[in-house]
Amino acid sequence: MPDELGPDKHVPKDSPPAAPPAPPDKSAPPPAEPPLAIVDRPITYDEARMARTIAYRRAHQDPAASGVEIEPRMIILHHTGGGSADATWRYFDRPTIESARKTIADAGDLNVSSQFLVDRDGTIFRLMPETSMARHCVGLNHVAIGVENVGDLDQHPLTDAQVEADAALVRHLKARFPAITHLIGHHEYLAMEGHPYFLERDPKYRTRKADPGPAFMTKVRARVADLGLEGPLVR
Ligand SMILES: [Zn+2]
Repeated sequence: MPDELGPDKHVPKDSPPAAPPAPPDKSAPPPAEPPLAIVDRPITYDEARMARTIAYRRAHQDPAASGVEIEPRMIILHHTGGGSADATWRYFDRPTIESARKTIADAGDLNVSSQFLVDRDGTIFRLMPETSMARHCVGLNHVAIGVENVGDLDQHPLTDAQVEADAALVRHLKARFPAITHLIGHHEYLAMEGHPYFLERDPKYRTRKADPGPAFMTKVRARVADLGLEGPLVR
């Protein structure tokens, strides 16, 4: 938008001075969250999925867990390992995990998902509320918002549009949830073990992850460096 109050050489010298700007409206609502185009495309998060989520929390986090709500403290970036946004959506939409994913299925039948999915052109889809728990990272699901990116490390490397979209989404989420202190890639999560955020009751339940890789994290972090978000613990 042009600066309408700035100097304008086309205005004759004898024209009357512009009216002063109106005083701020004290009854106006607080500033809205930063504008960011997000497409809501909710996956199934019904009573059955909530029950499975609570069962997962009781087994892995807290035997007294009674709800699905989380207080976001971290953002964890992922890649899907192939497929498309549509295929990922359909996969996450199922409430129960496929039994072929044995390590994960053995740890509970709640299906994996994430709060956000970023397509290769940078389109951001919100799949579920930011404050509802998704199963996307061992030990950190109770504090972390997950962002999946369609792609992988080999055939379909993540795109510049995804770098920009993830950075914008991180900025948006930090503004909405000021308690967020960390931004990590899924491949970095094991370095969080020992941090107060990390909570997994089963000491044997750990998975090895390579997504989304250091190159992608370096690019996203460079764009949000001013937010001061921490990375994984350095040992
Ligand atoms: Zn991942």
